[in-house]
Amino acid sequence: MQTFKHYINGESTASSDRYLDTENPYTGLPWARIARGDDRDADAAVAAAKAAFSTGPWSRLAPTDRATLLRRLGDLVLKNVEELAVAEVRDNGKTITEMRGQITNVAEWYYYYAGLADKFAGDVLHTQRPGFFNYLRYEPIGVIALIIPWNSPLRLLAWKLAPALAAGNTVVIKPSEFASTSSLIFARLIEQAGFPPGVVNVITGLGAEVGTALANHPDVDKIAFTGGPGAGVAIYEAAARRIKPVTLELGGKSPNIVFEDADIERASRGAVSAIFGSGGQSCVAGSRLLLQESIHDQVMARVTKLVQAIRFGDPMDPATEVGPVANRPHFDKIMRYIEIAKEDGARLAAGGTKSTRPECGSGLFVEPTVFVGANNQMRIAQEEVFGPILCVIPFRDEAHAISIANDSKYGLAAGLWTRDLNRAHRVAGRLDAGTVWVNNYRLTSQLSAFGGFKMSGLGKEGGTDAIKDYLRVKSVWIDLNDELTTPFKGV
Ligand code: NAD
Repeated sequence: MQTFKHYINGESTASSDRYLDTENPYTGLPWARIARGDDRDADAAVAAAKAAFSTGPWSRLAPTDRATLLRRLGDLVLKNVEELAVAEVRDNGKTITEMRGQITNVAEWYYYYAGLADKFAGDVLHTQRPGFFNYLRYEPIGVIALIIPWNSPLRLLAWKLAPALAAGNTVVIKPSEFASTSSLIFARLIEQAGFPPGVVNVITGLGAEVGTALANHPDVDKIAFTGGPGAGVAIYEAAARRIKPVTLELGGKSPNIVFEDADIERASRGAVSAIFGSGGQSCVAGSRLLLQESIHDQVMARVTKLVQAIRFGDPMDPATEVGPVANRPHFDKIMRYIEIAKEDGARLAAGGTKSTRPECGSGLFVEPTVFVGANNQMRIAQEEVFGPILCVIPFRDEAHAISIANDSKYGLAAGLWTRDLNRAHRVAGRLDAGTVWVNNYRLTSQLSAFGGFKMSGLGKEGGTDAIKDYLRVKSVWIDLNDELTTPFKGV
């Protein structure tokens, strides 16, 4: 068993000897333990980040030098893909193929934001006040808390950390209690890249303990969070009490709409990978499949066949397409939702049980599950399961499809499949979703914007705008007139 402590001010440290086991969901055995932090660790990490921001060498570093450090960090990520990917597979059971791909892409985020580090200095304004020089300074905000979930730790971290550092902030990272090890291994790369101590700190433990202490800390100046809506609301409330800015990337119940004019083979394959990629443990999972009535049976025949061919097994095997569910509480939640869907009257077309295939070993696997005969009012259509469960809802025409798709408290993403160009643009414009994919599903890029509408969150990650979310704007007025302008005549 490996032991991982917090990473605070460049040191591996912990305020107590309390630890949490980190279980490998494929073997069911603990493989590491992480420090169970509390408010003392949050205090120490925030103090280190605050000192680094205010008085440390980081505070005097030119933006071009920050860019150099970020580029070095990207290089180091690429040199260490295997170690980082294996840690994530052991923690969350996702396949090695997926995690290698994700971590390789993580490097691109550090390169991209390195390129933006020296591009946002401010602006000079020609105002209506002659003789006054007004300029805007874009300044870093201060200490940023980055709170991330277990499903894609280093990827979702990069979406926040790269713009936060490029903008000149310092950070305290709180990874999920189920998947903290990759962030702690990554912290060593931060040090190797040459970031001064205190600029990046990592504290581990439970959301209700060290997570709450961090979110409520008076010296945290902004919170960037990815996770479920419950924790998202708690963090938004904590931020509101101190009027702190937030970026929230929350869950989804994304509709994936197949029109009768779609390429049926392509749409069927797209529907299967939209939900069953990552075993459904993906915020953008296309968990509501909306099928036009005229092609419903044709698509379902293909989808159920494709589902049966999904290759389960050891997530370390490159041939495996889906690994186990990430942890026991999550497995129990998914199984509960299968019962809820049945009680609400949806009919099973595939799966619905724990998988006991030999290749699943003692891992927590759920058979890819498809419910038909569902309607959009059922809990299975309204609540995020975050697992391999698809509910299929028929629709009559375009207007009906849009009304079902938008009848959700979430608005993270949506897919639509059609060969009609007019319809593609028309429907994309009317869907309440932060990302819309037409004839594909899941594409993201560091150059583009990602983030949800409604209960799916606030703010965007990726692209040039995201760096502005980690900057504050100050307006400076300088009087260039020799004569004093004042309404008071004085003596
Ligand atoms: P979660 O909300 O339980 O936990 C996320 C993180 O928040 C963890 O580090 C946890 O310890 C911490 N946390 C929990 N309560 C907290 C509190 N009150 N104060 C401070 N920190 C707290 O989420 P999870 O189960 O780890 O991940 C699954 C969820 O994440 C799903 O709902 C999924 O949709 C969402 N997610 C969203 C996106 C996105 O970009 N929109 C991406 C991936 C995952």
